[in-house]
Amino acid sequence: MVSINQWYGKHREACKCGAEHYPLVTEKFEIGDEAFSMLRSFLSKKIYKNVLLVHDKNTWEAAGAKIFAILSEEGFNVKGSLIPQNSQGDVIADEEAIVHALLDADQETEVFIAVGAGTIHDITRFVSFKMGLPFISVPTAPSVDGFNSKGAPIVVKNKKITFQTHAPIGLFADTKVLCNAPQEMLAAGFGDMLGKYTSLADWRFGHLTGGEPYCEAAATMTEEALKNCIKYADLIAEKKEEGIIELMNALIKSGLAMSLFGNSHPASGGEHHLSHFWEMRFLEEGRKQLLHGVKVGVSCALIADHYKEQKENLLEASSETGSMKIEEIIAWIPHGSILRESLKKIGGSATLEDIGIEESLFSDSLASAHLIRDRKTMLRHINESKMRTV
Ligand SMILES: [Zn+2]
Ligand SMILES: [Zn+2]
Repeated sequence: MVSINQWYGKHREACKCGAEHYPLVTEKFEIGDEAFSMLRSFLSKKIYKNVLLVHDKNTWEAAGAKIFAILSEEGFNVKGSLIPQNSQGDVIADEEAIVHALLDADQETEVFIAVGAGTIHDITRFVSFKMGLPFISVPTAPSVDGFNSKGAPIVVKNKKITFQTHAPIGLFADTKVLCNAPQEMLAAGFGDMLGKYTSLADWRFGHLTGGEPYCEAAATMTEEALKNCIKYADLIAEKKEEGIIELMNALIKSGLAMSLFGNSHPASGGEHHLSHFWEMRFLEEGRKQLLHGVKVGVSCALIADHYKEQKENLLEASSETGSMKIEEIIAWIPHGSILRESLKKIGGSATLEDIGIEESLFSDSLASAHLIRDRKTMLRHINESKMRTV
């Protein structure tokens, strides 16, 4: 079987786009029953002794306590850093959480371990980077494609800012822990993957009509991850180990495509911009947050329909390359109803109503979410062409 590192290397070598693609920083990816004992060996090999384990209340129960015990027994000096929930019961990667982790780290700390989902990883990634120390990823749920990325989205004064930091030096995911994750977290991971339909389409459109940089290898990597995830949808829905491993692999591979390309284009288009818009509004209004992938799944289905409805407008985007290619790009995206069916199959939320987003917030986001990133997407084209005709 090809390891994840070999898979990355193969695509990196095959790439002809001309941009510089760096070798992987993450030395080892381990998804399996022996992940935690492999983690222990990895630390020994690295001659790390003093470990700071960053977790929250739930991830301590899911995996943190077990890792703490395994490492302590082996003579490692392990300290825990519990990131508290806010008044809405959410763990947020904000100023407060960062100070918590910083206060728990000390001069002895040699390596951080992030035990949790996306938010715990963002906090750990940011703090370890600022301290000039490496970190190891221990995902407790296959919920997002950001475990092995460099970007750390941090909430500063209620605004989300993504800082470029570093990738983990190793990733160790225990299959039992992943299979025990709550259904909504699996559905979130699936939703984040489903979003690649529109992110890839947006990227190809942006390249064709707006000069966005493009790398065929990174696009192929993302598409392969997406297709695998769809292929295993039934097994993911049934929470079968085989399916959960494939979902985790798909999320890692999507993260690797971003690493190869050096930017989030392959995995983040209009659907992510909508999701970020909703998240910022929720922060402003002090509302309980929704899982990232849950929002992305719902927004992907909505934006798929929006792009198809606006097809005539989109076809006018490029006179040089002709409309054929744009037509193909739009046709490649499944209809919103098909995407919603897939989400429901995994037991996830599929509509605005399911996740409690008002129609007014949705229409605000459809009109303005393209402004979140300076990136040519179909959403940007639609909105800018409307401005021109007003
Ligand atoms: Zn995402
Ligand atoms: Zn390339």
